[in-house]
Formats: sequence, C-alpha cells, structure tokens
Amino acid sequence: MILAFFRSQSTQLLIKSITTVSFISTLCGVAAYLVNKSFWAAFCLGTAVQFIAGYVVSVITANDYKSAVVKAELDKLEKLSTIVNCAYCSTPNVVTFLPDEVPSIVCDKCQNVSSVKLHFTVARTTTSVDTMTTTLKEPQKNHNIQY
Ligand SMILES: [Zn+2]
Repeated sequence: MILAFFRSQSTQLLIKSITTVSFISTLCGVAAYLVNKSFWAAFCLGTAVQFIAGYVVSVITANDYKSAVVKAELDKLEKLSTIVNCAYCSTPNVVTFLPDEVPSIVCDKCQNVSSVKLHFTVARTTTSVDTMTTTLKEPQKNHNIQY
C-alpha cells in the first residue's frame, strides 16, 4: 500500500515539484549567501515566489482546461440536438437528447412543457450486389467453312 502511494502519478508529480522548488530555492540561497551571507532569507523568499507563481500558473491552466472541457462537451451535445415544434404553439425549439433523461422542451414562446418522444427504427444495411464481369472476346473466325 505504501509502495502504491509512492508509485502513484500524483505522488511522483508532487515529489518532483518539491524537489524542483527546493533546488531553485537552494540556488537562490547560495547566490544570496555568496553576496551577503544570508542563505535562509533568500531561500524562503525564493520558495514563496515560486509558490505564488505556481499558484497563478495553476489557476490559469485550470481555467483553460475547464473551458476546453466545457467546449468539448457542448460540441458533443450539439450533435445530439435537433429542432422540434412546440406541442402547443408549433414554435420551433431546440431539444438536446441526454442518455439518462426523458427529453422534454420548455417552449421559448409560450413556456409550456412538451415531452418529446423518440422513435427508433432499424433497417438492413445494404451491401453491394455482385456485378457480373463481362469480357469481350474476339469473334471467332471459322476458317473451316468452305464455299
Ligand atoms: Zn409553445
């Protein structure tokens, strides 16, 4: 179980991140120590700056990821949508078919709820008929006929 914890991708990512932050902070600390003999102040400042920068980057990338996921979901739903007429006033309305919901529409014009019935039919898929290939032959010349 402990081995699985250390093998999980998020744990390895966390260890990699902590290692990188520590390494960069240590470099900052060593540079500050060489300049004015204060390692820990630069180390802590470097860690804080990386933490804030990492937070900002993660918020931006999370927002981009969320909007990309929402766009992909909307594109999927668009394929499952169609336009049906309201049962009360015949105004065209867009209905989206979701697999786990009974489809219904609230009319944009009269606000009445119409239920949408789905009707599936099946048909055989057509296969191509074997076509007969014809080859043209030379007309046979019968040389045996004598006149
Ligand atoms: Zn209506």
